[in-house]
Amino acid sequence: MHIVLARDDHGAPEIFRSIQGEGPNAGRIRTFIRLSGCNLHCVWCDTAYTWNWRDTPFVHESGKKFEREAEAIKLTIEKVAAIAAPLASEGYVITGGEPLMQRAVLPTLIDALKATSPDAAIEIETNGSILPPDALAESVDLFVVSPKLAHSGNDVSLALKPDALATYAALPSAVFKFVAREVEDVATASVIARDFGIKPARIYIMPEGTEAGALSQRARTLTVAILAHGFNFTPRLHIELFGAARGV
Ligand code: SF4
Repeated sequence: MHIVLARDDHGAPEIFRSIQGEGPNAGRIRTFIRLSGCNLHCVWCDTAYTWNWRDTPFVHESGKKFEREAEAIKLTIEKVAAIAAPLASEGYVITGGEPLMQRAVLPTLIDALKATSPDAAIEIETNGSILPPDALAESVDLFVVSPKLAHSGNDVSLALKPDALATYAALPSAVFKFVAREVEDVATASVIARDFGIKPARIYIMPEGTEAGALSQRARTLTVAILAHGFNFTPRLHIELFGAARGV
């Protein structure tokens, strides 16, 4: 069984141990496995090398396009687990791109990771627009669901799927991370939270940006609204620590 991963700057599969920069486990050491492919196309995506192939119509603020052959690598599940095992930490983060594009093979990947690291938690970072299969919902310890708002440039009908959002809202293992550019985005998150019955304690607001100074500035403008709604704030620690780089 195979799975398609992103490549790092050296062409190797993007599997690495680092400090989680975002969400409820920000600051904790995790082992990351970055999958290639995404069903959405955010104009500010910081991993556009997982989907913005040359000869596709998708628009990105950087104006950059990527060669699929140079950016994606297909490996067996056994090979992925073997690369990840020596990098094990207290949790694996399966990220992307959109990991659920490859949902059919994710349970097998999780079984392979658990075979070598039985105590490691399994976390998935998703845009929340694809229904998680039951087998996945049972084996994943934490879903960090990041629904994409209008400023991402995606059509709302593609980005916000009520059935998928309702499923994640009903999963105790899911938290929600909203990328925000403006104060109004925090208000939009609160409408979604109300519509799907998501308690504020499960919601994280993260400023959009890939440059530390701009991120800090944006974070300051969002703080009052975050406090008013009782949400959590999440930084992007990896940007502060490493900049907008791959494999870190
Ligand atoms: S959903 Fe995530 S990976 Fe996909 S385009 Fe948006 S930011 Fe990038």
